[in-house]
Amino acid sequence: MSSERPIGQGTYRVAFSAEQWRERLSPQEYAVLRDGGTERPFTGEYEEVREAGTYECRACGAELFTAAEQFDARCGWPAFWAPTDSDAVELLEDTSLGMRRIEVRCAACGSHLGHVFEGEGFPTPTDQRYCINSISLRHRE
Ligand SMILES: [Zn+2]
Repeated sequence: MSSERPIGQGTYRVAFSAEQWRERLSPQEYAVLRDGGTERPFTGEYEEVREAGTYECRACGAELFTAAEQFDARCGWPAFWAPTDSDAVELLEDTSLGMRRIEVRCAACGSHLGHVFEGEGFPTPTDQRYCINSISLRHRE
C-alpha cells in the first residue's frame, strides 16, 4: 500500500485501534477494509447489480452507495458511477503496483473500499467507475 496516507491515520468520526478493528471484523474483512487488500474478481457477493436498496460501509455502517448508481461494468467487482454523497467517501492518490490510481475510502471511518477510474467510456452520467470490493459493503433493502 503506498497511498498518500496509510489506513488508520487521520481523524475520523468512527475511530478504533487496529486491535479493536480486528475484534469487530472477520479476517477477510480486515484484510481489505483495514489493510487495503483486494478481493479476487468475480468472487464477491455484490457483483450483480441490485434492483434497489443502499450499500453501507461494512466497517462502520455509513451509507456509501445506492443501487440506483450501480451498473454492470463486467469487471468482477461492484461498480458505481457515483457515491450517494461526495462527502461519504474520501479519495486519495495511490501509486502502488507501479500505477497512479485514486483510492476510495469511507469518509466516516477511513476504511479502504476500492479505487475510482475515469474516462473508460461507460454510458453513465459521470463516466466514472467506483470499483468497490463487495466485502467492504453491506447491502440494505
Ligand atoms: Zn466506514
